[in-house]
Amino acid sequence: MTPLDLLDLDSLLDDEERQIRDVVRQLLDDRVRPHVADWYEEGRVPARELAREFGKLGLLGMHLTGYGCAGSSAVAYGLACLELEAADSGVRSLVSVQGSLAMYAIWRYGSEEQKQRWLPAMAAGEAIGCFGLTEPDHGSDPASMATRARRDGDDWVLHGGKMWITNAPVADVAVIWARAEEGIRGFAVPMDTPGVSVREIRRKLSLRASVTGEITLDDVRLPAAARLSEAAGLKAPLSCLTEARHGIVWGALGAARDCLETTLAYAAARTQFGRPLAGFQLTQAKLADMAVEWQKGFLLALRLGRLADAGRLRPEQVSVGKLNNVREALDIARQCRTILGANGISGEYPVLRHANNLESVLTYEGTSEIHQLVIGQRLTGLSAFA
Ligand SMILES: Cc1cc2nc3c(=O)[nH]c(=O)nc-3n(C[C@H](O)[C@H](O)[C@H](O)COP(=O)(O)OP(=O)(O)OC[C@H]3O[C@@H](n4cnc5c(N)ncnc54)[C@H](O)[C@@H]3O)c2cc1C
Repeated sequence: MTPLDLLDLDSLLDDEERQIRDVVRQLLDDRVRPHVADWYEEGRVPARELAREFGKLGLLGMHLTGYGCAGSSAVAYGLACLELEAADSGVRSLVSVQGSLAMYAIWRYGSEEQKQRWLPAMAAGEAIGCFGLTEPDHGSDPASMATRARRDGDDWVLHGGKMWITNAPVADVAVIWARAEEGIRGFAVPMDTPGVSVREIRRKLSLRASVTGEITLDDVRLPAAARLSEAAGLKAPLSCLTEARHGIVWGALGAARDCLETTLAYAAARTQFGRPLAGFQLTQAKLADMAVEWQKGFLLALRLGRLADAGRLRPEQVSVGKLNNVREALDIARQCRTILGANGISGEYPVLRHANNLESVLTYEGTSEIHQLVIGQRLTGLSAFA
């Protein structure tokens, strides 16, 4: 039991869950941790290479069944997200967008032909997917999306644009949500379709070890078979977000754990006024509060994971987890940074990188305010969205 595991939460996991966690942690220690600070500084990530490595280990679409997917439990998937994000939120985002957003959308709403075409290649990391919901003028309010899908004979023609799309610059397929006459519809769009273009978004100060793009759809003509036939209305993309948000509830704890472990070691080794920083009461108060929050966050994630495995997880419950765990993880990262003093702002330590990354995690997959509104609606029966 590590000192951070105050409540012996490890014993709440079964052997298989612990084993999966350890294997994922080892892969990240070997393949990601030694390089991630450089990727972050350079604003790049070897996405294809990593996707293949992650695919070999069964991490892509890990909680889905069939089509080459591992079919693991929601808790095991959550633990994998935690380990991925302990390395870097951008690396976890690569896996979340691939598995929980792009693959899940095709797995849940696609035709058998679409599943056969995309899922085995995506599970193996040979094909990369992205998920286009957000637009330049429509973020928290996707129901107002401006991207249009119109029928032309048997074909569909998409026109519009998507913004802030993780993986877009390296993707082979985009799940695109667009407004048709009959409501919001989803499409699996091969990225080499004429009329699709991608601009990489540069100068991000957060999630720098992740590729993000803007997708322009200029009268993109698609066969009828490209539509996700089972997806009708906004509830389809929202159900994909619920999947991904569950992974984030766990992932944020990984970033926080890495900050805490780094800080505990630093505070023990660094001496001021003739004693280690860890020996000061004010430092211990910070460490104690952060460890308590981390343990509470883990219990929350585990509760949601067990509910998901029982098929009983509801969207507002995921909002509780996303709101709390990302907010607390960001708070932990910022507090840890203060304990590292000037070294806290250095890329030699992971702490400010995690804090900066968590700014994106706080915003995507529903901002804190949106999750407060979801929970508020559940509590009061009143929608305060608009
Ligand atoms: C690095 C990164 C990667 C991303 N990846 C993807 C992706 O792969 N696919 C994708 O589709 N999107 C992606 N996004 C987009 C993300 O989901 C949106 O940024 C998010 O939904 C918020 O939208 P917005 O940025 O337009 O902010 P806005 O919606 O403009 O919100 C701005 C502020 O206003 C607040 N606000 C909005 N409405 C209300 C309200 N009713 N009441 C109170 N406050 C409100 C918000 O909480 C926020 O604080 C990504 C974003 C980032 C930063």
